[in-house]
Amino acid sequence: MIDWKALGDETVDLLRRYLMIDTPTPPGNEIAGTRFLTAVLERDGIASETVESVPGRANLMARLAGDGSLPGIVLHHHVDVVYADRRYWTVDPFGGVIRDGYLYGRGAIDMKSTGIMHLAAVLAIKRARVPLRRDLVFLATADEEAGSQHGARFVADKHRAWLAGAEYAISELGGIEAHAGFKAPLGHIVISEKTGLPLQLTARATTTSSARSRIRPSARASSRTVTTRRWCARRSP
Ligand SMILES: [Zn+2]
Repeated sequence: MIDWKALGDETVDLLRRYLMIDTPTPPGNEIAGTRFLTAVLERDGIASETVESVPGRANLMARLAGDGSLPGIVLHHHVDVVYADRRYWTVDPFGGVIRDGYLYGRGAIDMKSTGIMHLAAVLAIKRARVPLRRDLVFLATADEEAGSQHGARFVADKHRAWLAGAEYAISELGGIEAHAGFKAPLGHIVISEKTGLPLQLTARATTTSSARSRIRPSARASSRTVTTRRWCARRSP
């Protein structure tokens, strides 16, 4: 039986501590982050492996074994964050500050929060001894913000065994948003990142006159602009 309240409190605490680890890229110094993850995993008896692509740029993998009846799932996040200029922050970006019910910090969204949610899931599954059909691979990589050469690219090229048997990966972006103004929950699915994604769009219409046959891309573009403006106008905490 999982105590969800306790797990929630623990997850917030883990995220606060993760946010307090200074990993902006460059230089990244992700090893400070992976040391933290290693210690948390170790406390629950979960072994992990850390490899540096270059000194300080560390990548970590831990695996909960399934029964092999289905291929594995990778839970992936990046440890590095974007540079934070303290002049533009109302709180310490590496202070793990909770104010008015919100947790602030560089990486709170992109994407240490996801990493900690993955971590909490792994811990909860291990503690509850949930029998798994799929291997669950917890993967933390370096260098996402500047191209992934020392992180995901390095793992894919040099440590492919970490991904062995995996069928799916859950990583950055995507999710489900529900807002009062939405007619239905909005699901984001990201199928490609750090690479080109050529798409070909074909529009078909039946026409009765030359005037009607004209496609007006501007109509679409302007409605998108309005949507973007609405998003920009939304107040963040
Ligand atoms: Zn990111």
